[in-house]
Amino acid sequence: MTRLTRPDLDALPDYVPGRTVAGAVKLASNEVPYGPLPGVVEASAEALRTSHRYPDMGVTALRDRIGAWLGVDAARVVTGCGSVALAEILVKATCLPGDEVIYSWRSFEAYPIIAAGVGATSVRIPNTAAHGHDLTAIAEAITDRTRLIFVCNPNNPTGTYLRKAELDRFLAGVPSDVLVVLDEAYKEFVTDADVPDGVEVYGDRANVVVLRTMSKAWGLAGLRMGYLVAPPEVAAALRKVVTPFSTNLVAQAAALAALDAEDEVRRRCALVVDERDRVTAELRKLDLEVPDSQANFVWLPLGERTSAFAAACEEGGVIVRAFHPEGVRVTIGTPAENDLFLAAAAAFRS
Ligand code: PMP
Repeated sequence: MTRLTRPDLDALPDYVPGRTVAGAVKLASNEVPYGPLPGVVEASAEALRTSHRYPDMGVTALRDRIGAWLGVDAARVVTGCGSVALAEILVKATCLPGDEVIYSWRSFEAYPIIAAGVGATSVRIPNTAAHGHDLTAIAEAITDRTRLIFVCNPNNPTGTYLRKAELDRFLAGVPSDVLVVLDEAYKEFVTDADVPDGVEVYGDRANVVVLRTMSKAWGLAGLRMGYLVAPPEVAAALRKVVTPFSTNLVAQAAALAALDAEDEVRRRCALVVDERDRVTAELRKLDLEVPDSQANFVWLPLGERTSAFAAACEEGGVIVRAFHPEGVRVTIGTPAENDLFLAAAAAFRS
């Protein structure tokens, strides 16, 4: 048969979404369990009234709002159809075929797919024994073909995090022609004061982009809404390659409504953080290794026991995310959902 698509794509892993199973609790996609924020449904419904028209392609009102909120010029804010789409245009805007993208492994599973999409070469740096980023090895892996480095902080799926002193040191050593993308998808769940806010601390660096999502703490996963803060020239280049109108009408309206509910976001994140700490403590009582997490999930580095643990959870009515043979990532849900998961974990251990 005549081949129409690139043969290298055959070797590429599929992006595996968290599964939904009827009747089971889903703790597999790092969503916050408390429903849409107040005002979001109404604003979305209102936006639908003009859904026969294209949305504002410049995303003006929302970018202005995000810029004012973060204290940066709106020209530096770029929005997209989820932060995953923004990660994609970052690679598209920086890499030619054969250029290198460095990231930790494990980290966010879309990075390899995105890199391969433009024919860039993935350079994966194994995590440390403590399941976190190995910044020394990442720095050593930089070559003259390196164009972009993803640093996910806190890291998905391990929940591990980098402190300001480590990041300062690392960023100081990165050549000025390499773009560092700080992926802060889980930033809102950070409680350790040593973990830097990328926009506040590194926002003015010429080669740093801070990537954020409204899918997690802000509850807009189904509407696909991500944003980033980039140096002005980088933002301008990104706008050239972004898919036109990819921040849709409803997403723009919903994001504005969500930003009005920031107090409620903080309240929900505090609940999640309390539960994260409780779940971590309970799992440790079962003699399971759980690295400290600053995200809305915990990581169990179960190795060969990964699939068996995930199956035991499913038997107990809970869907978790298995990355066999490395470990299981479990999203923090409501207290009742977490209790169900803890019961399944206890049953696995007994
Ligand atoms: N970055 C990280 C680290 C993530 O975990 C995710 C979602 N799993 C994303 C980016 C993408 O999120 P979204 O496309 O929903 O904004």
